Amino acid sequence: MWEYRKARYGVKSIFEDKMTKYNGEGSCPKQGGCDIASVRDSTAMTPMKVRVRTHVVLQDGAWPNGLTSDMLKAQEASLKKDWGQLNVDFDFVEAEEHTSSKYPSCIPEYDGSNVWYDAINELKRTLFDAEPDAINVLVTCQTPGSGGTLLGIGTFPWDPAAATNEGGLWMNAAHIGGTHKTYNHELGHNFGLWHTFHGVSEIFCPTEGTEDCKALMRMGLCSWACACMDPCWEPPHNLHPEYDYNNVGDFCADTGATFRHWDCTTPTTDPICEADEFTGAPNDNIMGYSPDSCINKLTPHQQARVHCWTCDATPFVVENGGCAKKRAASQSLRGHHA
Ligand SMILES: [Zn+2]
Repeated sequence: MWEYRKARYGVKSIFEDKMTKYNGEGSCPKQGGCDIASVRDSTAMTPMKVRVRTHVVLQDGAWPNGLTSDMLKAQEASLKKDWGQLNVDFDFVEAEEHTSSKYPSCIPEYDGSNVWYDAINELKRTLFDAEPDAINVLVTCQTPGSGGTLLGIGTFPWDPAAATNEGGLWMNAAHIGGTHKTYNHELGHNFGLWHTFHGVSEIFCPTEGTEDCKALMRMGLCSWACACMDPCWEPPHNLHPEYDYNNVGDFCADTGATFRHWDCTTPTTDPICEADEFTGAPNDNIMGYSPDSCINKLTPHQQARVHCWTCDATPFVVENGGCAKKRAASQSLRGHHA
């Protein structure tokens, strides 16, 4: 999942390519058992310690963008604090420094091409182990460009790349430090979390412009042109109590429907529909796009997804047999209820 808080051009097409790969017919497509609420909620919430290997690509012999190991440590403390809420801890292996004439020290500028994206993948293949035993985090600078700045790119656990040297996470070195939250947010994608606005602002509009679509827009039910024609559409919870919100959007019923927004206020009025149906939508969730200063929350459904998806798809990043213990605990849990 790539972030386009500051750089939006050329991203949507790639996002949609990726989505198309996983899309199905009829209902909102699921990537695995952990997208089913009953499976998700039977996951034991025993502690999970995740190993993280950081790879810093040096620029002119130094860490890029003025990043220091103290700043990285401050970021890691922030990660422990935010994810500790979900019983997730980290083992941060000491950062490895890399330098080579074979690859560029900075990712090329962000533009409409895929050059920057290919460069990231090339670096990952070069520096990461083919069989990862950790979440590999690639830290580099990026050449500034007119398209804006890319902050970070996580890999969903159900993406086949997650178990290879093309998985892990790329972070722009300029966005690491004690008060930054991009890293915290990106790890959420690695753990299987969608954006809280996924069911409102990240959906297909295959029939945009049809009469049905226009009628729904007039009724104020769609926040994005013809959103409601998409099977993943997450309507405002207070207006549509009949919905099973665990089956749409981010698959978490306890994160209210919200559109993508970039400020710390509680979102109410959708800027496109001009309807106030989103009253009470979350503005402090780490998986939203509110500023770093006001995001620090995660919910119980997000917690269950994180533990379920991580142990289902990427158990190799969890230390001390954490996933095996989880499975044993959830089996005895189920035994009790049988
Ligand atoms: Zn994101």
